[in-house]
Amino acid sequence: MRESKFYFKTRKEVSKEEVAVSACLLIRANFIEKLTSGVYNFLPLGFKVIKKIEGIVRDEMEAIGGQEILMALLNPKSNWKQTNRWDTFKALFKVQSRYGQWFALAPTHEEIITPMVKNFIFSYKDLPLYLFHISDKFRDEPRSKSGILRGKEFIMKDLYSFHTDEKDLEKYYEKVKKAYKRVFKRCGLKAFVVEASGGSFSRFSHEFQVITPAGEDLFYYCSSCKFCRNKEIAENIKKCPECGHTVEMLKGSEVGNIFKLKDKYSNAFDLKFRDKDGKNKNVMMGCYGIGISRLLGVIAEANYDKDGMIWPEEVAPFIYHLLSLSSGDAKMNKIIKKQADLFYTKMLEKGIEVLYDDREDVSNGEKLVDADLLGLPYRIVVSEKTIKNNKFELRERRNRKVKLIKLSDFDKTVKSK
Ligand code: ATP
Ligand code: MG
Repeated sequence: MRESKFYFKTRKEVSKEEVAVSACLLIRANFIEKLTSGVYNFLPLGFKVIKKIEGIVRDEMEAIGGQEILMALLNPKSNWKQTNRWDTFKALFKVQSRYGQWFALAPTHEEIITPMVKNFIFSYKDLPLYLFHISDKFRDEPRSKSGILRGKEFIMKDLYSFHTDEKDLEKYYEKVKKAYKRVFKRCGLKAFVVEASGGSFSRFSHEFQVITPAGEDLFYYCSSCKFCRNKEIAENIKKCPECGHTVEMLKGSEVGNIFKLKDKYSNAFDLKFRDKDGKNKNVMMGCYGIGISRLLGVIAEANYDKDGMIWPEEVAPFIYHLLSLSSGDAKMNKIIKKQADLFYTKMLEKGIEVLYDDREDVSNGEKLVDADLLGLPYRIVVSEKTIKNNKFELRERRNRKVKLIKLSDFDKTVKSK
């Protein structure tokens, strides 16, 4: 992508309403734009990151047998009445059709997927079944200061699993836990697995928490045995219940949550299967969420310095940021531009993800500042100084290490990742 053709200019100022570091950085760098409180548009750079996160999640969900579906967001009231959540789910957005019917804008999909699979699950032979879905969710959240970390409209991945018995659910739950760890690691994050309230059907669920000052959760952490438990559910813990070591309190943002639903929803929708012994039994269920758009914010929150963001490679919108810096000398300018153009063409041919700052109406200083703000993993600079030495500059954003490399070594240095 050529920046001269890119319509989204970085900003110096962000509205004072935005206090979360991630929201400020993502808005300044034009990854996202706020439409209204809790509602954001994703601009080309931000949407690229979202698609990369989705790609990782999709990969890992398919690796544990998940099949992707896309469920409706406009939900009939009757589905939500059936579980009583039409009246008890406080954050449910309710909309009325001009013909009088009421709908819910889906905040989660148990009410849709459970009756849906009744059409496919009859006997134990139809189980287990794993279905997942990546799409918008709507929740009428209270006004928050967390920017994109807490939206009224946000993107979630939700996986639902269906089993013959609790043992099978238990086994799959552990598999999902491992898959989640891989997802967050690939996103460049360290996620803590935290015990949290299990609702009325299990003792605990598990949350995946990433440490950040913008987070809304507090949890106990034992540095000795790695025990973690959410403060919300726990009595005042001073000593680790596992090993007796003193615990500390950490602040995090929940990027994922896994839950054993058991037969809560199969009961509500009469989802049964015929078992080997000929008896009809309730299907056992699990549900597993990941906050895709929250992750965009959390990754920014966990990877920045005074100059801007620092994207982990696997989720970076582009891997390379190629900059051609101008010179006062017209002839030299032409040479610089020609060299940078050549690099750009080569990179495109090799399928390397590159953003090319070829803008002519912007100062060199601004280009460098913008590049640090955007925080792509590698910056390549072609300037008068490098050209005079027959070289180009390669700089790693994370550690700011600069290398001057011979022009003729470009092909063997700059490779597709
Ligand atoms: P929270 O405790 O943060 O309100 P939750 O427990 O209600 O979240 P879940 O229903 O478990 O959320 O949803 C699965 C995942 O979706 C969460 O782990 C989180 O990453 C993400 N998520 C939930 N609510 C929001 C929101 N309002 N904005 C952005 N992401 C969200
Ligand atoms: Mg949760």
